[in-house]
Amino acid sequence: MKISMNQATCLEKSSLEKDMELCEKYGFDMIEPRTMDGIPNYLKNHTIEDLAADLKKHNLQPLAFNTLCYFNNRSPEDYQAILAELRQMCAWGKVIGCKTVITVPTVDLKKVTMQEIHDSAVKCLKEMGAIAATYGMRISVEFLGHPAASINTFAQAYEIIQDVNMDNVGITIDCFHFHGMGSQLSDLAKADGKKIFIVHLNDTEDFPIGSLLDEDRVWPGAGCIPLDDIFRTLKKIGWAADVVSLELFRPEYYRMDPEDVYRIGKEKVDAVIRRNF
Ligand code: ZN
Repeated sequence: MKISMNQATCLEKSSLEKDMELCEKYGFDMIEPRTMDGIPNYLKNHTIEDLAADLKKHNLQPLAFNTLCYFNNRSPEDYQAILAELRQMCAWGKVIGCKTVITVPTVDLKKVTMQEIHDSAVKCLKEMGAIAATYGMRISVEFLGHPAASINTFAQAYEIIQDVNMDNVGITIDCFHFHGMGSQLSDLAKADGKKIFIVHLNDTEDFPIGSLLDEDRVWPGAGCIPLDDIFRTLKKIGWAADVVSLELFRPEYYRMDPEDVYRIGKEKVDAVIRRNF
């Protein structure tokens, strides 16, 4: 099992350069760079070829680009901009060896039916999957466990993925988002593990379902999510069990020394992995 760090975990006191150094120092094998700040900030003083060299220097592999935001039920103009962003990520992926783009659903849609969401998501993902395939890349849909997100449970996301029916289009399971809207382990148990492309590992304070916010995330094992049950189910359905990525968005951790976040984060991830694998 490889361990990855998502750049969101140390957002305020780190940078892509520093994250790469800390990943190597604290034993992370992979990194998820952020496309809205981490990579653009890095590219102010570097080229994408520099990033490929830096990753190699730090013995790191890129796991997935985070994040192609709000892909479904958009205006034609906005959707074209998303496709342009996708092509940019795919082009970067070819250079740095990153194989996956994570995309998230649109939030705060007004008066759009579940059927309209499903149909738009399927149509967009087929097109996005075809574009990604020309670069040898995958699209991984991360449903968001909040009522305002148009795709917010595992079951809903999985139905979409099944209708898309493409080898390179799958799902990101973020443990926080899985718990956030009460996704069911029984639904996960019926799924094909090969469609689970990425797993974001985290935990959360025990606020009611439907009210959880990213800031409520805590170290894996320090909250109320039945992580062991999730991993037991993932193993049963044939998930590759290749890598988990630590993704926390907690302001309290942002204020900590990044060295401490990496050190503690690695210990907490290792403890969960040791129990389950
Ligand atoms: Zn996530």
